[in-house]
Amino acid sequence: MKRLPRPIKSDLKSRRFVWDEERAIRWPYYKILREFSTLKQFYPEIDPYAEVYRMRDNVYACFSESLDGAGDVWSFVIDGPGKAMVIDTGFGIGDFKGLVKKLVGDKPLIVVNTHSHYDHAYGNCQFERCYCSEAEVARMEKKNNPHIWDYLFDENGNCRFTEFDRNDLVKWREYEIVGVEDGHIFDLGDGYEVELVMLPGHSPGQSGYYDHHNHIIFTGDTGGICDAVPGEPYPENCTVEALRDALKKLEPRMDEIEAVFPGHGMLDQTGETLRYLLHAAEAILEDPERYDEMTERFSPSTGETKKIMMKYIYQGSAIRYNRHNVYKKDQIKGAEA
Ligand SMILES: [Zn+2]
Repeated sequence: MKRLPRPIKSDLKSRRFVWDEERAIRWPYYKILREFSTLKQFYPEIDPYAEVYRMRDNVYACFSESLDGAGDVWSFVIDGPGKAMVIDTGFGIGDFKGLVKKLVGDKPLIVVNTHSHYDHAYGNCQFERCYCSEAEVARMEKKNNPHIWDYLFDENGNCRFTEFDRNDLVKWREYEIVGVEDGHIFDLGDGYEVELVMLPGHSPGQSGYYDHHNHIIFTGDTGGICDAVPGEPYPENCTVEALRDALKKLEPRMDEIEAVFPGHGMLDQTGETLRYLLHAAEAILEDPERYDEMTERFSPSTGETKKIMMKYIYQGSAIRYNRHNVYKKDQIKGAEA
């Protein structure tokens, strides 16, 4: 099935020509935000691949188009009293670091990743050091190399999914990866705390970052469950069950969370959506065959087509899963095989 959504008016230097997964729920949000909102800031002389939206006094959301056919992606900047935090670094196209400096000046930066995927972590090498969950370090290390962008081009060097200037990819450079435990507190100065909250399933160490001051949780790609890679640590985390357990742990604090900012799609979702996510995860664990939709999906990185089941989330999108990544025991068995 070929999808051709009407393009949203854009001055970005990138031009998408493949859409694998943008859903109808996201398009109108992007349309209104990107074409009509007064929150938008654009600095093409610094980074022509990113739009900035000031969502709170000290919180910026940076939008960039996906380079590999998947969902357009958000990175975030929290301008703290003493330090600024960068949550995810995009594909590594354009001068994202320069853009961050434009927003927060010369403040020291704490760079963190929700997880290691292309669209969230390939800009890491613009920075000296990046933090993530200790359960994501192994995957992050694998991607600390100059070939991470090769899959975006065909054998003739042409872009496979989105038109962009190859010379605008950042220069690759090794950087330090630091894993921290669930609940780790980052201090942005004067007691401004941001907490790593493990929300696994999409990857072994996929995590949210909870801004205690604004009561916003930045959740990354929570909800799309992806199989563990054979041989890697924490295969049990790549399951609906692990996501359910993490949300159960967070449940007593859900009332204090005012807003959810995911890595794709609608920002400023109500904290209630975490509860709806938990309900969907519990329903899947009760009976994985009671999915709401079944679809086939091609993965450009592995070249495989897989059957994906979806359980819709009230006021949200869906938990995507397959028959092998619902229960921890199945992923542990799969990792041994
Ligand atoms: Zn992801």
